[in-house]
Amino acid sequence: MKSTRPTSELLELLASRGLAATTQRVALLAAVLDSHDRHLSAEDLYRELSRELPTLSRATVYNNLAALGNAGLIEKLETPDGSRYGPVARPHVNLVCTACGSIADVLVGDPDLEALIARAASTGGFQARSVSLSVNGLCSACAAAPA
Ligand SMILES: [Zn+2]
Ligand SMILES: [Zn+2]
Repeated sequence: MKSTRPTSELLELLASRGLAATTQRVALLAAVLDSHDRHLSAEDLYRELSRELPTLSRATVYNNLAALGNAGLIEKLETPDGSRYGPVARPHVNLVCTACGSIADVLVGDPDLEALIARAASTGGFQARSVSLSVNGLCSACAAAPA
């Protein structure tokens, strides 16, 4: 899987959060940032990347995803099927379909949403680092399908 992003951009992102740029971490960040609306699981990423990085271990994938998520470089989202990782670090709402498992990012960068998160954080004197909001239900295709 070839990333469309220049490596320099990835290195800058990692450096901006004080994260060391190991080969595995750079590859993982590139894979998540290029995954668009797919919201991959750690297992998906492990399978995809272990083809080009045969020494990659599952533990490395899990540890690096946690570090990238905590740094606010990628989105970590809890779904009924477990954790998923997406490229959109800006606040947004995930519409999670509990029937087909699809996840859609909506309201990305919506000023009302950003204001709401800022209000929520300020009540606790809190510095927001990463945000994960999801609405579970049925996507339009599943809602229209006969039961
Ligand atoms: Zn669906
Ligand atoms: Zn998302």
